[in-house]
Order: sequence, then structure tokens, then C-alpha cells
Amino acid sequence: MSAGTHDAIVIGAGPNGLVAANRLLDAGWSVLVLEAQEVVGGAVRSDSAVHPDFVHDTFSAFYPLAATSPAIQAFRLEEHGLRWRHAPAVLGHPQPDGSWAILHRDREVTAGLMDEQYPGDGQAWLDTCAEWDRIGNHLVGALLSPFPPVRSGLGALSRLRSVGGLRFVQSLLSPAVELGRSRFQGESPRLLLAGNAGHSDIPLDSAGSGLMGLLLCMLGQTVGYPVPEGGAGRLTLALASRIEALGGEIRCSTRVGQIVVDRGRATGVVTDDGERIAAVRAVIADVVAPHLYGGLVRSEDLPAKTMNAMRRFQLDPGTVKVDWALDGPVPWASPSPHAAGTVHVADSVSQMSEALSQVAAHAVPRDPFLLCGQMTTSDPTRSPNGTEALWAYTHVPQATERDAGDGSIRGVWDRDDCERFADRMQARIERLAPGFASKVSARRVLGPREMEAMDANLIGGAINGGTSHIHQELVFRPIPGTGRAETPVKNLYLGSASAHPGGGVHGAPGMNAAKAAIAHARLQNVTSWRS
Ligand SMILES: Cc1cc2nc3c(=O)[nH]c(=O)nc-3n(C[C@H](O)[C@H](O)[C@H](O)COP(=O)(O)OP(=O)(O)OC[C@H]3O[C@@H](n4cnc5c(N)ncnc54)[C@H](O)[C@@H]3O)c2cc1C
Repeated sequence: MSAGTHDAIVIGAGPNGLVAANRLLDAGWSVLVLEAQEVVGGAVRSDSAVHPDFVHDTFSAFYPLAATSPAIQAFRLEEHGLRWRHAPAVLGHPQPDGSWAILHRDREVTAGLMDEQYPGDGQAWLDTCAEWDRIGNHLVGALLSPFPPVRSGLGALSRLRSVGGLRFVQSLLSPAVELGRSRFQGESPRLLLAGNAGHSDIPLDSAGSGLMGLLLCMLGQTVGYPVPEGGAGRLTLALASRIEALGGEIRCSTRVGQIVVDRGRATGVVTDDGERIAAVRAVIADVVAPHLYGGLVRSEDLPAKTMNAMRRFQLDPGTVKVDWALDGPVPWASPSPHAAGTVHVADSVSQMSEALSQVAAHAVPRDPFLLCGQMTTSDPTRSPNGTEALWAYTHVPQATERDAGDGSIRGVWDRDDCERFADRMQARIERLAPGFASKVSARRVLGPREMEAMDANLIGGAINGGTSHIHQELVFRPIPGTGRAETPVKNLYLGSASAHPGGGVHGAPGMNAAKAAIAHARLQNVTSWRS
């Protein structure tokens, strides 16, 4: 093979691109990964830009999906420097009366705390966990497999009777609010389910949100919400180190500007510097669908129906993220019984619903629902002893029509908007932790524009490669079709969060794309051998 020619080119070194490259190398392929940014990782990286003594995760931070993902577990990343750390408690939600809803890794502890708030809820929680023990692995397997999920789907079906048959399916399809109400009497389990459902953009009163809430709660009980020791970037660095150990090549600061298509088949790429690089067997795009089908592949190389369907593609909402370097722990007014890694901030389930509805209605939320990470609590290596590396993020509309708060935020997300909104977010924490502001030694605000500049896949701050609403999931992701990695262009595979099963760090879109490429190459070999 001539220099500069590879079996496969992977565009983008986010977790999905890196998983795809690892899988192809395991199959004996030669692989080149091209990454636009100066560093690998996509939305899984860390930096010390907030404060030189602190490590902050630039984007994502907690990895229950990676911990349960067969794709990522198969690579034995511990041999490449990855070490997982856990906070004492997985998740905490402070309530206005001073109590906390707590998800502890030990389900008995979680249940005991729930019983203290509402007798009977503890047993209901343990019953929910026992149900998950019977079917959870198969459900996760089915969710992460290409569509239709034959093996895991059959496994889940065979266990369905043991968890109540159609009644269980119905409860999975229930909105998170309804699931919480039907199974529990107290506020704590309802808050935990709703808060976890709020990690996607499915409204809490819509089908699909219940499954999301249950999935993340149950992963919290089974694998916890681990974080990589030393920063999120250690996870993608371990994936990159494995690639290099297997002889793969990664080139950073190399943006791909075009995918070369010859008679309906992807044959390589052209970088922004004008370099043409050939790919003999496959091009895998860890690229969001609007970019892949909006310029990277020329429109004349795509069927009209793909272009038409992409006009209806819907992004998920934008995001504003704030990082703080604190010179002491968060001064919670009433401390949590077990220090939590992830913290959710909303006064009630209905306030959470209201904030998410405001975003959906193109309004900047008045009381944004905050997802926070106490990172030093989760991994003491993140900042000096006695301090805390904290972040919070929340969602904002892609196109803003009004500010549901004091009217001061226009939604153009320039510095002024970002700082004002960060003040609004910070004020929420201050209410629960008086004196918070006095602990802040540095603050960084990343708005939608900054996020997109640091990772082109985060269009307008959309973190999931497209909405998770049911109309854009499964066979509808990213556009109505097969729900698989194949694209209308032969040898070109979509391996980003825009592909089924969507956002989150589980590597499934990357793994599915690599497996599809390997299967097609085998088929082509058989066909050419026969003819
Ligand atoms: C603020 C935030 C918080 C999050 N929190 C969590 C969390 O706690 N847990 C979790 O599981 N998930 C979380 N997520 C979601 C998760 O990070 C993403 O779903 C995941 O990173 C998607 O992986 P990906 O490989 O598809 O894309 P990305 O991680 O976005 O990587 C894509 C890569 O491709 C590169 N690229 C794009 N176009 C080109 C091109 N033309 N040429 C070369 N390179 C290109 C980009 O530079 C980037 O490096 C969060 C995301 C964000 C933004």
C-alpha cells in the first residue's frame, strides 16, 4: 500500500471516532484519524484554563454509559492509563426544605433514605432495582445495538414476563413525571427520576423521558457515575493511546473539508490544507449530520431525498456551561448526608418541567434546571486539598424569542448574555449555598458559540448531535431510514452522536459504524472472490 493510503479514514477524534478506529484496528485495518482541533477528545476532554491548579472537564464529566458500554469495556482501557473514580454518593438533589434526594451506589442506603422521607418508598425503590436486575443488561444491549437489535432484543423479550410483561413496557414508555407518580409517594425518588430524564431534551411529560430517567437512575445503582482520575480527557487519551499502540495514526489540527465520492463510493477526503488522502475501504464520519450532509459530502453526491429529509432535521437545545474554581467546598446550607458527585438544582419536579418547557418554547429559562458536578468530591486529584472544581450547565433555546426571567438576556449569546446568564445560574446555587460567591477564585463561562468553536459538532451548543425526541430516534435517526450507520454513499458511515442511539459517551455509534464497515468489506471480498 502506498504511503498516505489507508484502509479507513476516521473524521473526528471524539469518543465515537476513537471507538470506531480502535475496532477497525482490532480487525487488522490500517487507520488514520483526522481531528480538526489541536487535541483529541471532542466533548470528552479536560483543561486547566480556569485556574492553573485545577483540572476542569471542558464539556462532559460523568460516564455511567461508558461504564456499562460493551464497546468501551472491550478495549480494557485500564491498560492504557484509565482509572475510574467515584464520589461517595452518585447523585444528590437539594430540596428547599433542606433535605436531599440521594442516589447512593448502595441501593439499600438509597432506599433507607427514601423511607425516612416517605415510608414504603424504599421498598418500591428496591423492587424497581430488582426488576432492572432481571432485564436491564438486555435493555442496555438493545439500546446500544444497531437497529433492529436482534440478539439483545430477543434477550429482553425473553425476560419480559418476569418483570410484568406489557405493564413493564408501558411504564418504560411513560413520561418521567408519570413514572415517578405511579411508583412512589415521596418527592425524592420522583426528583431523581425526573432530574435524570432532564439529561436529554425529551419533555418530562412526554413518552421516552421515563425510560431515560429510569436508565440513568438504575445505572447509578449498578455501575455508578464514574469519572476518569485526572480529568475527562484521560478517557479519550486512553482510547487514543490504544490506537497508537495498535499502529493507528492520529493527526490533530487537520480539518476535513470534503469527502471524495467517486461513482457513488467514498474514496477518501480532502483536508482544509488541500491534501487528498485515499481510503481504500471506508470513511467513518464522527461528524454531526447537518455538517456531513451540509457540505462535507457535496450535495450532487447525495440523493435528493436525503437533502429533503435533512431540512427537517432538528438539533437539540443550546447549552451554557459555567466552571468555577472554589477555594473551599460548596457551602450547602444543609449538607448532604453523603457527598454527591452529580448535583441537580431545581426546587421541584414541576419547576424542572417549567424550565424545560420554557426552553422548548424558545424562552431563556427564568429558573434554569442545573446539572452540576462536584469534581474534586468525585476525584480528589482535580484540585488542591480542601478546594472544589465545580461546574454547572443548563440548556437554552437554539433560537431565542424572549427571556422568561428579568428580560435582560437577548439570546444572542455574546459575552454580555453569557455572563448575565451565568450570574442567574450562580444565584440559584447561592440560594442553596449562602456564601457561595465568596468561595469563587475563578470562573469561566462557555456559551453556545464558544462550545461550537471548540468542537464543531456542538452546533449552537447542542450536546447530543440532534434532538432525542422520539420522532428522531431509532429508524428516524438522523433521518427516516434504517437507523443504521450506512449512508446513501457506499463506504461512507455515520459514526457520531447524530446516528442511533444518539448522544452520551457509550461509543455505540462509532462501534456500529466500524462493524458495518467491516461487514461490508467482508461481503465485497466474498463477491469479488466469487466473480
Ligand atoms: C457540556 C456537555 C456535557 C456533557 N455531559 C455528558 C456527560 O456527563 N456524560 C455523557 O455520557 N455525555 C455527556 N455529554 C454528551 C457527550 O459528550 C457527547 O454525546 C459525545 O461526546 C459525542 O461523541 P462524538 O464522538 O459523537 O462527538 P464529539 O465528542 O463532539 O467529537 C467530534 C469530534 O469530531 C471533530 N470534527 C468534527 N468535524 C470535523 C471535521 N470536518 N474534520 C475533522 N474533525 C472534525 C471535532 O473537532 C470533535 O473532536 C455532554 C456534552 C456536552 C457538550
